[in-house]
Amino acid sequence: MGTIEADYVVVGAGAMGMAFTDALISHADVRVALLDRRHAPGGHWLDAYPFVRLHRASAFYGVASTLLGDGRAQQHGPERGLHERATAAQICAYYDSVLTERPVASGRVSFMPCYVWTDDGRCVSTISGERHNVRGPARVVNAHYLSPHIPATTMPPFAVGRGAQGSSRSTSSCEWPTHPPSTWSSGPARRRPTRASGCLTAESTPTGSAGCALGNRGCSTAR
Ligand SMILES: Cc1cc2nc3c(=O)[nH]c(=O)nc-3n(C[C@H](O)[C@H](O)[C@H](O)COP(=O)(O)OP(=O)(O)OC[C@H]3O[C@@H](n4cnc5c(N)ncnc54)[C@H](O)[C@@H]3O)c2cc1C
Repeated sequence: MGTIEADYVVVGAGAMGMAFTDALISHADVRVALLDRRHAPGGHWLDAYPFVRLHRASAFYGVASTLLGDGRAQQHGPERGLHERATAAQICAYYDSVLTERPVASGRVSFMPCYVWTDDGRCVSTISGERHNVRGPARVVNAHYLSPHIPATTMPPFAVGRGAQGSSRSTSSCEWPTHPPSTWSSGPARRRPTRASGCLTAESTPTGSAGCALGNRGCSTAR
């Protein structure tokens, strides 16, 4: 059993946890343990489909200390003249670089990847199972309560026809359940999924890049 010694334990290294930690160390001389069950900072962007990008300008996203992107307008394509919008890969690279060059370099922030914060107030390694207690009166900051659900890791909110299955990579890991969980919405059955939903069923034309809502990128369904 290990011990975390910090003034703040920030749970979640997505956009919220990164922005909070960045602002915190800019304004206070405190020690922070920043932990995430994922292997790197960036939150849901680490799992997002490769074609997703910000909805709005990069300059309005990220941490306060470090500009995301160059603050330039796009030079080509249908959005020429509009502000650049970072892709998922650019956002992940940005958070990786910010973490190393700001919080970790300050010597006051310890990043703990692959650690889960549990309800009983401990953090547990998802790799070794090692547990850590927090020593002293550390403040625990929930930086994941806004976490969005993304198609790549969320079951789709529509029913899937019996027999619809398939994978260009691994059929067994990409099959749809025959009986969707009751938590799925009861909307019109077999509503035609769109590319935006991130999943194609047997009713639509499969592509190699659409991905599978069960989390297997590059997985497409078969007709
Ligand atoms: C395609 C797309 C485009 C978007 N575009 C924009 C945009 O242009 N502008 C904008 O403002 N917003 C945009 N958003 C919204 C975006 O989701 C949020 O801005 C932000 O990324 C959410 O960050 P978060 O830190 O709240 O959640 P997350 O990114 O989900 O991060 C939370 C982290 O907490 C970790 N975590 C959760 N529970 C635990 C636990 N118990 N123990 C350890 N770790 C835990 C998770 O592993 C995760 O890494 C977009 C979203 C999507 C999907």
